[in-house]
Amino acid sequence: MRVGFVGLGTMGGPMAANAARAGFEVTAWNRTPGRGAELADVGVRLAPSPAHVARASEVVVTIVSDTPDVEAVLFGPDGVAEGAAHGTLVVDMSTISPSATRAFAERLAERGVAMLDAPVSGGSEGAQKGTLSIFVGGEADDLERARSLLASLGTTITHVGPIGSGQAVKAVNQVILAGGYLGVAEGIVLAMKAGLDVEQVVAALSGGAAQSWVLSNRAGRMLANDYPLGFKVALHRKDLRIALELAGETGTTLPISALVETIEAGLIARGHGDDDVSAVARAIRQLSGLAG
Ligand code: NAP
Repeated sequence: MRVGFVGLGTMGGPMAANAARAGFEVTAWNRTPGRGAELADVGVRLAPSPAHVARASEVVVTIVSDTPDVEAVLFGPDGVAEGAAHGTLVVDMSTISPSATRAFAERLAERGVAMLDAPVSGGSEGAQKGTLSIFVGGEADDLERARSLLASLGTTITHVGPIGSGQAVKAVNQVILAGGYLGVAEGIVLAMKAGLDVEQVVAALSGGAAQSWVLSNRAGRMLANDYPLGFKVALHRKDLRIALELAGETGTTLPISALVETIEAGLIARGHGDDDVSAVARAIRQLSGLAG
């Protein structure tokens, strides 16, 4: 199958490489020239625009930063919509707004182009190893057309409902993570202030109900006040804004997500937007009189 990739960033670059290694004929484009040049080694052909990618492909994956960026690569000058033939399938794997996703799908459908939303979880490591979890919204027939491609990118592919549903599931994921990071940050700072041996506390709790991936993998960073990536604060804040938009549309109250979103806004203002999300501990540390 002829496959296109638009966006060769942290996620898109390794995903395009995995698709090429799996035997797909891959054509790709990145806004900043030169990024992705190493993909030629695995047989990826670089194209001069998203429209060129679409002309060369039966299925086009978009994996760029945010909602306006997906709109730009789909409908901007030399965008995917300009080059896509009737019957092309667009699979947007970025994390963006569910309602904007539905609007993009309608605009593409007017041109005879189908769309799936297929955001991912699993981070840059999952993109490199091809072990992403993929949440797919859209028509079942379209998913079957894309399934072999998605199987080259991830290990868990779940069809979660109509177009936009994949993005809604991803929003749920990010809301749950917000509580996870903030809860662990509060617990770790309390342990420090109470004079406990934090490493011993983490080990003792890891067999009980407070056990979590964040506790096991990020408590040490919160203790050390050092937050290498990971998953960027700025990206998580973008995702929480999407979740809060969905909450507004559905009449849902998300107090923890709103709190974490504003804590992350403050971290970004202080120059910590590229820290790992576990840096929410900086705020709790500072409020508690510790270095943050
Ligand atoms: P990234 O490394 O910052 O790369 C972003 C990509 O989008 C780059 O190729 C960038 O091009 C392109 N881009 C951004 N705005 C654009 C525009 N207006 N027009 C054209 N291209 C544009 O980000 P990433 O980590 O790959 O993330 C991509 C998506 O995956 C995001 O929606 C993110 O939330 C989601 N995601 C990320 C992770 C993770 O752990 N990183 C995990 C799950 C999901 P340039 O090279 O020109 O800047």
